[in-house]
Amino acid sequence: MICCKECIELLHDYLDGELSPEIEASLEEHFADCPPCIAFVNTYKSTTRLCKDTLKSNDIPDTVKSRLKEFVDKNKNT
Ligand SMILES: [Zn+2]
Repeated sequence: MICCKECIELLHDYLDGELSPEIEASLEEHFADCPPCIAFVNTYKSTTRLCKDTLKSNDIPDTVKSRLKEFVDKNKNT
């Protein structure tokens, strides 16, 4: 079972459809059990869309990444 931290690492590839079906399945399994991560996915989606529009880059800026990590860290202990 993957953890929240791994979700963050995999999310970019997940949204790009680059994960193997097996990993994709365990990721979705995690999401089903982890509301903070679903919220994270939604935040991530809108954030990366913004970033792609403004920066035309596939990379998430470090500031955004750490902010989202903070968000997940804060929520996973509840
Ligand atoms: Zn999670």
